[in-house]
Amino acid sequence: MSVLDEVLDANEAYAASFGEKGQLALPPARRFAILTCMDARLDPAKYAGLAEGDAHVIRNAGGRASDDAIRSLVISYKLLGTAEWFVVHHTDCGMEFFTDEVIRGLLASSLETAALGPDGFTDVGTGPGSAEANYIDWLTIADAQESVVEDVARIRAHPLVPGGIPIYGYLYDVTTGRLVEVPGATKAGLPV
Ligand SMILES: [Zn+2]
Repeated sequence: MSVLDEVLDANEAYAASFGEKGQLALPPARRFAILTCMDARLDPAKYAGLAEGDAHVIRNAGGRASDDAIRSLVISYKLLGTAEWFVVHHTDCGMEFFTDEVIRGLLASSLETAALGPDGFTDVGTGPGSAEANYIDWLTIADAQESVVEDVARIRAHPLVPGGIPIYGYLYDVTTGRLVEVPGATKAGLPV
């Protein structure tokens, strides 16, 4: 079966037992938001105990506090009432395995999927690529703990973020499923 058919079949089963979820309110009932990585091993609904309607989950590569992640967080509190935020990065994040220079070089030579080996990512596809990658800040991660601290600090200092919202910083351990606090981030995210 194709991925498309698998997804549509799964959705058919989901919708068949949708029940009361059709009556859920738009604002998240538990009034919090999680910014986390898109990594396929992370399931925020499971690792944080969420049901439909509970919380906002904002995901991107790395769970970074990009301008667009902040856009979503601002909408989350200003229009939909969230009052506590989590920034959750994780161990073994793919964003640690390359730099801006590396991904720009890879994309400049080929648009096909690169291979990840012991020496990092290498191109195995053919060209042409594109120089457009030079205009993107890829927000790669050099140190997992430090990236959580940086992102929490950036959100805390943002002029559109009220000082009263606590921001918690955690690293999800992909080998145990556990959320491990990053104390420097929690400190940086204290209400001011
Ligand atoms: Zn990741």
